[in-house]
Amino acid sequence: MGAPSAPAPAPVVNAMSIDVEDYFHVSVFDGIVPRSAWDRMESRVRANTERLLDLFDEFKVRSTFFVLGWVGRRHPDLVRAIAGRGHEVASHGYAHRLIYDQTPAAFRDDVRRARGILEDASGQRVAGYRAPSYSITPRSLWALDILLEEQYEYDASIFPIRHDRYGIPVSDRQPYRIERRAGTLIEVPGSTVRVWPLNLPIAGGGYFRILPYWWTKWGIERLNRTEDRPAVFYLHPWEIDPGQPRLPAGRLGRFRHYRNLEHTEVRLRRLLTDFRFDAVGSLVGRLRVAAPEGAMALPLPYSW
Ligand SMILES: [Zn+2]
Repeated sequence: MGAPSAPAPAPVVNAMSIDVEDYFHVSVFDGIVPRSAWDRMESRVRANTERLLDLFDEFKVRSTFFVLGWVGRRHPDLVRAIAGRGHEVASHGYAHRLIYDQTPAAFRDDVRRARGILEDASGQRVAGYRAPSYSITPRSLWALDILLEEQYEYDASIFPIRHDRYGIPVSDRQPYRIERRAGTLIEVPGSTVRVWPLNLPIAGGGYFRILPYWWTKWGIERLNRTEDRPAVFYLHPWEIDPGQPRLPAGRLGRFRHYRNLEHTEVRLRRLLTDFRFDAVGSLVGRLRVAAPEGAMALPLPYSW
């Protein structure tokens, strides 16, 4: 008889998130579908989000839904359903404008309006925010102060990678506290694996849909097992909708938006089978308990 084997460690609970917007809200289509035309477009966000809600019911997964305020104004019953089915409602801003293309005053109006709409519709307090296209970059760090002043508690907008539209490659890969005069904001970065000298994105959106599934599986396993950290996964309702109308973007935009739409739902089922997930707000709460005394307050690699 050998020594009794140690019990297997509990699986890491990752964070699931959905950015609730319609296919025509995506930054790729800025300039192709003007905001003045949004009301006239065929809306598919409700049906696609309801499919995700059914899928999460089936797998007993709780998720965060970062809902665009514009969608919440048009479909308050959808926001109510998200909250009523046990999920966290968070904010994706109101009008899906890239932050660095806005003035601070316009950004403040945008996040305040979104929060009001989402809290009215859901009956929940909205604590989290994710920027359109992860657009908190070195040019728009002022947005973090405004989020604090507007009573947001966590942000999930800083991707520690290099990309043509977003990212702060030197920023931290794990959640951290940002201490400012207006209070403490928790930053929950998009998930990456470190393959020196790069941080490579592994958990969501186009990286999940365009690259083969093994990439995401390998990346989340590496985060969970090697670093003992949760991954923060993200997806959009339009990414499980191969029937959406085709819009005339450029070649790169078309590739990024339409590639593998028909495979995403099957992949998502594999992901929900292979890993455990909970809402982003739950992860933030666990981090607060684990590091209550500023233990997560890392020196920022940037200043503003
Ligand atoms: Zn978005």
